[in-house]
Amino acid sequence: MVLFVLASCADQDDANELARLTASNRLGTGDSARDFLTEEHFSEIVMEVVYVESVPPSDVALEHLVEFINEHCYKSRGVEIVKRAIPSPDGEFYSVEQVDSLERELRTQYNAKNRLAMFVLYLDGSYQDLEDKSPNSGFGVVLGVSYRNTSFAIFKERINTMGSSRSYALESTVLKHEFSHLLGLVNVGTKMQSDHIDPEHGHHCNVEDCLMNYHVEIGWEFSGWNRDPQLPQLDSQCIADLRANGGK
Ligand SMILES: [Zn+2]
Ligand SMILES: [Zn+2]
Repeated sequence: MVLFVLASCADQDDANELARLTASNRLGTGDSARDFLTEEHFSEIVMEVVYVESVPPSDVALEHLVEFINEHCYKSRGVEIVKRAIPSPDGEFYSVEQVDSLERELRTQYNAKNRLAMFVLYLDGSYQDLEDKSPNSGFGVVLGVSYRNTSFAIFKERINTMGSSRSYALESTVLKHEFSHLLGLVNVGTKMQSDHIDPEHGHHCNVEDCLMNYHVEIGWEFSGWNRDPQLPQLDSQCIADLRANGGK
């Protein structure tokens, strides 16, 4: 899922140093696609992972994400992971605005020199869409949400309740899906080279078994993933988009 947080009005805060430093990490989803894909401005990534202590990330899933980054992005100095646990914010439900304000509180890594900083928030509870009144809003649960140019949230408790014995497989797939939104897929910062957008489901791919199909985000057929070693991958059209925007 891709959501946009409305920019708050400029105020005195904008004048202070922190605001200046953080501004480049507070843009919209897809705005840093080329910075992730190419080495023009950044040759390494620091991935800050903050998680509610009851729902820690799977190390295997994070490794899969790093492999995925190396597969599609030019980052000769690699990816560094910085992890930290937090107590539960006591949220049963989180709106995208709440997720965004948690990031303001918790995030410590911002872009610096040739290091591109990203922020991954692992939450307990569920995502709550306060605005969406569309017929699809009650359809399944949301496992992840991308809401800014360098950040996304993972609803790990929801992933755990999917009951898969290989829950890391679902977790790593959701991580890669959300990260691909930061890479500008589909048509959100990285221009489509062919028409493969799913018009009913926002910035998703219309190829059924593609990693960027919207089904991935709601754990579609997750039970089958216990048997099938083949996890969803980007299809050739999504990869062509990334390459046209400077990716591998
Ligand atoms: Zn999505
Ligand atoms: Zn695709």
